[in-house]
Amino acid sequence: MKYNRVLIKLSGEGLANKDKHLAIDYELVQKFAVQLKEIVKHNIEVAIVVGGGNFWRGTSAAKNGINRVRADYIGMLATTMNALALQSGFEKNGLHCRVLSSLTMDPKVCEVYINEKAKKYLSDGEVVIFAGGTGRPFFTTDTASTLYASEIEAEAILMGKNNVDGVYDSDPKFNPNAKKYDRITFDDILTQDLKVMDRTAASMAKENNIDILIFDINEENALLRAINNEIPNTIITKNKE
Ligand code: UDP
Repeated sequence: MKYNRVLIKLSGEGLANKDKHLAIDYELVQKFAVQLKEIVKHNIEVAIVVGGGNFWRGTSAAKNGINRVRADYIGMLATTMNALALQSGFEKNGLHCRVLSSLTMDPKVCEVYINEKAKKYLSDGEVVIFAGGTGRPFFTTDTASTLYASEIEAEAILMGKNNVDGVYDSDPKFNPNAKKYDRITFDDILTQDLKVMDRTAASMAKENNIDILIFDINEENALLRAINNEIPNTIITKNKE
């Protein structure tokens, strides 16, 4: 195993089941739980940042006339709802799991994020879910992922995508000759303006030397197999080699 501590970014939209009109696909949550148990069993510490796009996106709401700052706080609350739902699903499968929020919530809802506490839970083998993004508007949960990964000293971020198995030089859905990268640097992502994550997230991951793994989240056992390099992926790194 290459990594001792990883952070998994789960997009809010990826949690939804559009066919059944469900904001959260509980069967999918169970599938993640089974994989996480396996990862934890291999002594890899797991933190999770969850998005909120299945409920709310600040930028879309702002276009409809809601003040952007307030719209973004609603988005952060959406990530907290997802975090609590994930916690329930994970606990049902016997995982020990904590939700730490960058927004101060009533302690009956979840815990406040404190770095030392997060690291202690992780080293005790508990899964830590970070809610509330960065806690500030104008950011995304991709940036929250690199921020939290930096703070807890995770070595890699696993960023599963929907039906895309890596980073391509152009959109494979439109260009059948698009070339997939096995490995690419953050500098290349930024200079070629490849739309994998937002620029703030890419810059911060580069600064703090955190690998980002891109893979198709819909593959069977995607999380574990991505860590083990058993499914197609792209690794984004600071250095070329
Ligand atoms: N958000 C924010 N600050 C953050 C993270 C998220 O304001 O640090 C808000 C923002 O409005 C965003 C929403 O929360 O649109 C949901 O997050 P995101 O769009 O990243 O979720 P995902 O695309 O992963 O589902």
